[in-house]
This record gives sequence, C-alpha cells and structure tokens, in this order.
Amino acid sequence: MAEPLILRVREALGLVTNPSTGRNIIAEGGIQGLVADDQGHVRFALDLPGTSREQSESILEAAKAAAANVEGVASVSAVATAHGSAPKSPAGGHDNPFGLKRKKPRVEEAAETLTDVKCVIAIASGKGGVGKSTVAANLAIALAQQGFATGLMDADIYGPSLPTLFGLAGKASMRDGKIIPIDAHGVRAMSIGLLVDEDQALAWRGPMVMGAIRQLISDVDWGVLDVLLIDTPPGTGDAHLSLIQTKRLSGAVIVSTPQEMALADVRRGVSLFRKTDTPIIGVIENMAWLENEPGKRQYLFGEGGAERAAHELEAPFLGAVPLYPELREASDDGQPLLSQDHRVACVFKQIAEKIAPTIRKA
Ligand code: ADP
Repeated sequence: MAEPLILRVREALGLVTNPSTGRNIIAEGGIQGLVADDQGHVRFALDLPGTSREQSESILEAAKAAAANVEGVASVSAVATAHGSAPKSPAGGHDNPFGLKRKKPRVEEAAETLTDVKCVIAIASGKGGVGKSTVAANLAIALAQQGFATGLMDADIYGPSLPTLFGLAGKASMRDGKIIPIDAHGVRAMSIGLLVDEDQALAWRGPMVMGAIRQLISDVDWGVLDVLLIDTPPGTGDAHLSLIQTKRLSGAVIVSTPQEMALADVRRGVSLFRKTDTPIIGVIENMAWLENEPGKRQYLFGEGGAERAAHELEAPFLGAVPLYPELREASDDGQPLLSQDHRVACVFKQIAEKIAPTIRKA
C-alpha cells in the first residue's frame, strides 16, 4: 500500500535545506501544522527563527514546490512566519509604540489583497468570556439582513467559536489555491478553527499568530464585500497589532460586560486603538441584565457600567444586549437566534443601524 500522503509530503519537505544552517527544514523543526486532506490539499507554516525574511521567503517557495511535486497533491497553501519584522511588544517608545513604520510587515501586504472589501471592522474585547464572538456573529447576521454583503472572519486564535456558533462542520475547502469561505446565515464566514486544530493554535507564538491572520486575510477568497467583521482574540496582543498594521481597519467595536473588572480592560482596548489612530466605532454592553419575565430586569453584573465607560472615554455607546439563556443554548446548537424570529434580533438590528453609517462612508 502507498504511504499516506502526509508522510510523502513530509519526506519531500525533508529534502529542502535551510542555507543558513545547512540542515533540512524538517530536521530543524521548521514545518508546523502540516495537514494533507483527502482531496490532496496541503497546508503548513514555515517557522525558522533566526532566518531573515528574504531567506524564509525563498525557503518557503522551495518547500511549496517540493510539496506540490508529490504525487496526489492538488494544492499547497503555506505561510512563513515573519521573524524579521514582527513587533516585539507594545513598548517601543512613545512616538512609535508599536514599531509601525519600521519594516513593512507581510500582514500589511496581505491586506492589499482585500481590494474588493469596502470596510473592515475589528470586534475586540478586553478579556475572554464577555460574549464577543456571540455578538460578532449576531451582528454579522443583522448587517447582512440590512442588505450589506457581510463577511465574518473568526481570528480568535485561542478560542475560535464560529464553527460552533454557525454550526460549521469539517475543515475548510480550497479552490484554485484559495480557501473558500462558507456561506451561512447570509454571512460569508471563515474561522481559524476550520484551518487548524484548536490545540495546535494554542501553542502559537506571536509570529505564528501573524502568519495565521495573514492567511485568513490573503488566502481566503473573500470576494466582494461591503463589510468584513473580524472577531479578534481577547485582550490586546499580536493579533490586534497585526490588524492595525494592515491600515485597513475602518474602526473597532469593543464588547464588554458591565462590571468594573471588565471595564478596566475596555479602557486598555480603547487606548490601544486610539494610539494607532483606529477609530472606535463604539462600545457594546453584553450580558447587561437578565430578564426571565418580561419587564423584570436583574442586573447580575452591575448596571450600565459599559455605557458609563463609553461616555467617560468619549466613545459612542452602541447598545446593551441582555443576557438571554436561550441565546447561549442556540449558540451552542449552531443556530444563532437572530436568524430566527426572536426579541434579540431587535437588539442587534438597532446596533447594526448604528454601525451602518461607518460602512456606507468607507
Ligand atoms: P468570548 O468570545 O468573549 O469569549 P463567547 O461569545 O464565546 O465569548 O460567549 C461566552 C459564553 O457566553 C457562550 O456560552 C455564549 O453562548 C454566552 N453568551 C454570550 N452572550 C450572551 C448573552 N447575551 N446571553 C446569554 N448567553 C450569552
């Protein structure tokens, strides 16, 4: 019996040498996340610390050619992580806090491929578990229902939830070397969770995160869109810096729960985007209250905290989303409530109407 495709691809990659060390790229652990699916589509990331960007690029080309030559391989999609140009940390001095102008990062080049996407909006949160992905998914559906051609990119490397929220199964498929987004609930969607295994992504360091974002931007065939929402990982880290560096963001929407702990993070998020001249489109307060009986509100996490923080920070307040137990159940079942007839649809419709002018203006 023939050897499995993945082993044959691995063997072929083992014949590619890194000129700066003289070792082959498999032996030095330079190939990460190698996948070969049943249709012969191969994906991997090249991660060679200590190698210049130019060298990495040429090794990547050699590696792609070697993989493509293996019998049974239909397409190869691969990225090299940008060790030479990755911003180290947001502590580079006041006038240039993120090293934005030093070297053109490859994520920025990737963003140039989004020529047919009018408006790109980051959905961010100071911390995890505030419902950022749930809000992003329902907001995307609400915008699509208002007639905008809407895409949703789940770049939450450390907890991609779009496959669950939208009920997407299996792995992404490819056509002509591009990853095809999935049309679901009227939205063109793609998730990092459909490209790599979750536990694999968890171990990624900064440059790998940049590579993944780049791939989600440039290797996905987003087509013509009025707006692309990007569900970013919680906090403010490499993913945000990568996106800000694309200079393609029309703005950011911050999601928070009302309590003070979460609000400190909102302030940090707002300040990151402000420092880099990314407009804050507004703040959404999620899990604002629980309403088990109509008209009876229980403020489990305090009342109106995110709205107050928005005013304090002079950022627009886009609206409050109550805590609906059935929203959690529906999300877990892959059936976002908004695609059905539910009171939460009205909440997201109002928020979408406040975001619409930013899209029309872009
Ligand atoms: P994050 O992206 O911020 O980590 P998620 O969107 O994954 O958060 O939400 C965390 C959990 O909270 C999920 O189980 C989700 O279904 C639930 N959830 C989010 N928003 C609401 C809401 N308004 N009402 C009820 N459950 C919610």
